[in-house]
Formats: sequence, structure tokens, C-alpha cells
Amino acid sequence: MSNNNNTKVRVRFAPSPTGYLHIGGLRTALYNYLFAKKNKGTFILRIEDTDRARYVAEAENYIVNSLKWAAILPDEGPAFGGDYGPYRQSERKEIYLKHVENLIENKKAYYAFDSAEELEQMRENAKAAGNAHQQYNASIRMKMNNSLSLSEAETKAWLSSGKPYTVRFKMPTEETIEFEDAVRGKVTFKSNELDDKILMKADGMPTYHLANIVDDHLMEISHVIRGEEWLSSTPLHIMLYKAFAWQAPTFVHLPLILKPNGKGKLSKRDGEQHGFPVFPLKWLNDETNAEQPGFKEIGFLPNAFNNMIAFLGWNPGNEQELFSIEELVESFSLERIQKAGARFDWEKAKWFNKEHLMKLTAKEMLQPVKTANAKLLNHYEDEAIIAAIEMVKDRMTFYSDLESQAGFLFAAPESYDEKNVKKRYKLENKVHFNNLIEIFEGLENWKSANIEASLKSYLEQNELGFGAVLPPLRIMLTGIMGGPSVFDIADFIGKNETINRINIGLQQFEKLKAS
Ligand code: GLU
Repeated sequence: MSNNNNTKVRVRFAPSPTGYLHIGGLRTALYNYLFAKKNKGTFILRIEDTDRARYVAEAENYIVNSLKWAAILPDEGPAFGGDYGPYRQSERKEIYLKHVENLIENKKAYYAFDSAEELEQMRENAKAAGNAHQQYNASIRMKMNNSLSLSEAETKAWLSSGKPYTVRFKMPTEETIEFEDAVRGKVTFKSNELDDKILMKADGMPTYHLANIVDDHLMEISHVIRGEEWLSSTPLHIMLYKAFAWQAPTFVHLPLILKPNGKGKLSKRDGEQHGFPVFPLKWLNDETNAEQPGFKEIGFLPNAFNNMIAFLGWNPGNEQELFSIEELVESFSLERIQKAGARFDWEKAKWFNKEHLMKLTAKEMLQPVKTANAKLLNHYEDEAIIAAIEMVKDRMTFYSDLESQAGFLFAAPESYDEKNVKKRYKLENKVHFNNLIEIFEGLENWKSANIEASLKSYLEQNELGFGAVLPPLRIMLTGIMGGPSVFDIADFIGKNETINRINIGLQQFEKLKAS
């Protein structure tokens, strides 16, 4: 079939605005975008809104805002401009009508007047005769009420009587439909297995199939890159291209994104169950009426998000995992898209964010960290916040983690790691803490290195190991085990606050030990 090697690359993301855009949809958009940019082509957004029953008014905005957030920006589309518009299918009704009439004239499609009851009756009869899955196809079409079975005069009379009708595709028989999918290789179907699909509904709206291929043709789409769920529609699309005598684009069907356990498609429910988002932006759960965060609100960097979804079905063929968007464009190729479903892994998703976050400087992180931890950081100078970020940056996955990783730099601990207090604090060491308080009080230059030196020399003089003092000191200052250097923490919070926290710690630890 066709191979548009010599034509300009024009690709489209063609979502239906029926609800919140899932990350699978965004991955389709990203692959289209990467392929377009890699080939100096054009990336188009087309809104496929002909199914009025499933139409959700805010969905288009959600799609556009998601693309904007992830910086997967279309070159053409509603609100993006372009010479091939309108880019909303509901605004192209006349175009589809013209094309459907052309098919009818050329005997590739026909008017069908069958009512819902008649269709039901046809299926019931077939069932009674032992055929449980009778389709509306070549074997049955001459027995139904359509412009093939009726005379021309009858058809005209029915049309002018105002009787509702659909337009169906006259699927040719005995044809082998073959096409080369860029991911799956050669795909073969028998036309006899396909039915006479409705191309235009009784409301005058085209179905997805008709609108999709008419637009792909008129918008000069070179490659159709879309989810695997559309693979089974492709033979019909190929037959439609043939009926119009148009060249079909190259098809590229992307693997499914699977649940973390690999069993079935990733769904909204999986996210709810395991506590991770499946939508890029916040969304309203209409069952609980609660607003839920998306990847953006949880704190994903657009770059990390793109990097993560790029790897759900594609890999560069080497060890590199961290990519900027420019590097993704550079490395992307259809050949390296996998056939097998791609398992969503929340831990890996977070890893991507952590790695991308770590590449930023503390200064670059300042504003978003302030926004994400507004309550904690309200009264602090930028300089102090930058110093804090510097200290715990390597431990953060999201901007909001500053609070869990370094909240103790800004507020005294409200509780202590009880288990570790009991294990690591010995009452007989209280005297050493009191001595240290005295030493600290006398320390002139309250700097991390000096604090460390004074503490070490005290330990040496008293033939004490680090274990006697350092772990409890850390818990006194921070509430927890683990974190940046205790001396850096003491330096940051200042001499008075350090001594204060040791005093409070001594009292509280005693109570905890007794409990
Ligand atoms: N409107 C279809 C969807 O919602 C587009 C499928 C295609 O790309 O052909 O996914």
C-alpha cells in the first residue's frame, strides 16, 4: 500500500472530547509531536466531536490545557490556526455531506431506511436460524430497506417523505485487505468479515470512520499515529480510501498502556486504587464530587512527564533513560516503538521526576518550591530557602517534598521517631548533652565545620563513639533519622534554636524512655 516517504510529514492528534484526556492520549499526542519535529513536519490537533451523545463541553479545554502544560504544542488546530481548518469536526458537516454524496453517486455507499425495530428483527431472525452474530453486510443487505434493494423511484419517495435514514458503506466482497503497519508489520483482513458500516447517522452527522478519513485526506496527513484500539477499524478505513480513490496514509498503531500488574488497560480505577494519577491535570471525580490532582498538581515537571510517557512504548535502543524534549525529538523513531503493551510503573514515573528535578539548580527551584510549600515558607527569605533546597535537593521527588525532607529547618519537630529514641538514646548520656550545650554556647563562630570540630573533640576527650551522641542529636533537631548533615542543620537553624531543641529533646526523650 502507500508509503509516504517522499511527502511532507503531517501528523495529527485527533481526540474525541468525551471526558478527561488520559495519559494514553497524551502519549499519542507526544509521539505524533516527536515524529513531526524529528521530520521537520507539522503536528495538528483535530477535535473529533461528531458523536454528540458522548460530547462533554469542557473536554476540549482540558485537552488543550493538557497539551499546553506538557508543551506538546500543535502547529495547527482550533485556537492554534492553520490553513486546513476548521479543525473541529462539528464545523465540517458540509464537507462530509459532499463526500458521502460522492460515494453514493459512485455506488460505494447507499441510503438505509431500516428502523431500529427492523434491525432488531433481522438479528432475531438470524439468531433463530442459528446465526448469533448477523452483521449488516453483503449477505443480508438486499433483504433490507435500502437504496440497493429498493427501486430508484422508491428510494426517492422515501427520501422525500422525511423518513430517517443512515448512509452505509457498501463493503466490497472477496477482497483481501493488506496494509503495512509501521509497528506491527503486514496486517491482513478479509473484506467478507467486515460489515456495511454506517458512515452518516440519522442526525446528519458523519460517524468517526467517515469524518476521520475525509479529514486525514483533506488535511494531507502522511502518518496516522494512534492507539492500538483503532487497529481493527483500519481495514474499513483502507477500503474507504480505495472507494474515494485516495492514497492511504502510513498507519502506526501504538501499544496499549497496561495496568501496573500488566493485566489489562490502565484505567482511572487503577489510579484510584493505587493512589497515582492517570490524568495530566486535576479532574473532578463525579462519583465522590472531589477534585483529584493530576500529574501537574502532584508536582511533575512537564519534561519529566514527557520523558516518562515517551518510555511507555518506545525506547532509544541504548542505556539512556533521561531525555530532554529536544533529545527525545532527536532520538525518536517509529522503528523503536514496541508491539507489546507497556506497563505503567508509578515508582518509575516518580524516578523520572526526581532525576529531572535534580538537574535544576536550587535557584531554579525557588519559586515552585515556595508555591508548593507556601505555608511553611511564608516568612523566610529567599536566601534561606535556597540554602535549604541545596541541602535536601537530592532527596526530593517533588517540589512539595521540601516540607517532608527539610521542614525541620523551618519549624521545630512536633514529634520524634519513638522507636529510634528508645533504641539510640541512653539516659546515662544526658550529661554529655548538657556538656555539649555549654560548649555550643561558648562557640564563637557558629558554622557547620566549627560545630563539627567542637563536637568531635568533645567525643575524643571523653572517649565516646559517634553513636552515643549523634543519632539522638539528629532526632532532637529533626524528629527523624536520616537527612542532611546534622552540623549543616545546626548551622542553618542557628545556635539558640539548636540549644533550645536539645533542651526540649532531653525532656521529651526522658518521657519517651519511661513510656
Ligand atoms: N477520535 C479518535 C479517538 O478519540 C481518533 C482515533 C484516530 O486517531 O484515528 O481516539
